[in-house]
Amino acid sequence: MHEYASLYENDPVYQMAVKQLREAASLLGLPDEVVEVLRHPEKLVQVKITIRRDNGKLETYLGWRSQHNSALGPYKGGVRYGEDVTPGEVVALSMWMTWKTSLAGIPYGGGKGGVRVNPKALSQRELEELSRKFFAGIAKDVGPDVDIPAPDVYTNPQTMAWYFDEYSKIVGYQAWGVVTAKPVELGGLYARVVSTGYGVALTAREAAKKWIGGLEGKTVAVHGFGNVGMYAAKYLAEWGARVVAVSDSSGYIYDPKGLDVEEAIRVKETTGKVTNYKKGDVKVSANHMELLELPVDILVPAATQDVITKENVNKIKAKVISEGANGPTTPEAEKILHEKGVIIVPDILANSGGVTMSWIEWSHNRMGCWLTDEEALSRLDKMMSVNFERVFNDWRKRFSTHPMRTAAYAIAVDRVVKAMKLRGWI
Ligand code: GLU
Repeated sequence: MHEYASLYENDPVYQMAVKQLREAASLLGLPDEVVEVLRHPEKLVQVKITIRRDNGKLETYLGWRSQHNSALGPYKGGVRYGEDVTPGEVVALSMWMTWKTSLAGIPYGGGKGGVRVNPKALSQRELEELSRKFFAGIAKDVGPDVDIPAPDVYTNPQTMAWYFDEYSKIVGYQAWGVVTAKPVELGGLYARVVSTGYGVALTAREAAKKWIGGLEGKTVAVHGFGNVGMYAAKYLAEWGARVVAVSDSSGYIYDPKGLDVEEAIRVKETTGKVTNYKKGDVKVSANHMELLELPVDILVPAATQDVITKENVNKIKAKVISEGANGPTTPEAEKILHEKGVIIVPDILANSGGVTMSWIEWSHNRMGCWLTDEEALSRLDKMMSVNFERVFNDWRKRFSTHPMRTAAYAIAVDRVVKAMKLRGWI
């Protein structure tokens, strides 16, 4: 029946997303026909983007916007650029956004975009032309009440400025609400930059309260020191934890007495490698994977997917894990950790600070009032803490024999299905 859906049907990333959906559905007792409805995006747009390269030649790229589900509100989610982006990946990621926004309790559906291009091979001018043409191509399908893109891999506030400007020209008014994570000068919030890391730190803090008696004096290792890991480390240290190790692709640094996180951020930002950190009795090692096995209370995997696997899971000592990256723990490893009593705050909950801050930015743009960063972060803190409590309690009450992730998916799917029923879609 679905041979025409082949743009994404055979993609392994998409198949994995469907598998997770099926698990959640079986936990909720949802019939197959509902899974069949939920596994397809409501709309998938493909656009052709032709640009004139700096060398005078024409080049054509393909881009997609997948609008997975809008039962809870307008579609929401980032746009990524990458040479291996596929429509299947974009559809899968849009489904994950549906669950992420549902779980976060914000009035958005799920969407995602992608352009198959190597952004590193393009000049700034070429990137601008590509970005404007991609957005012009999807302009009829997005809008402040329809679909609100944001940055993702290899896109940033500058990309959002181009999207915002292009769209505003097309519609003939200043459409502040059409994208989020805009530059501060164009209605964005600096707080959006730190928000994903802040949310990861916050869920670690809340999980630590439930599991190991709070953050105070607890040791933390952070795997990955990009935008997410860096700010997760910063806030965990500010809130009284002892950050003893952080890593990037150059290796990791470890000081059991605790690192100076501000200094580590300065070293990373000025030299590009966190391993140039020299303070105290720091131990430096080239193998960043070893960081995961250090004797710490809290582990924050914030680099890439599949780093906690059945190979190293028995060497993991942390009791609390908060997933900054998407999919850092494999299902086999998760099962073992769950049986050992480790709490893993799943990615769709732990890294939802970005999209939650996007909602704060968007709703204030639309009211025409601008927030300070302190106000925005305190708002985020309240929203995410309350939401963590709700998800945690629901997990313990209804699904406690399963890892927190399974419960998070079930709760997210349940909310979407209820909204679909109320609207009379199913
Ligand atoms: N790309 C981010 C995510 O996957 C942010 C999405 C948004 O802010 O809309 O959560």
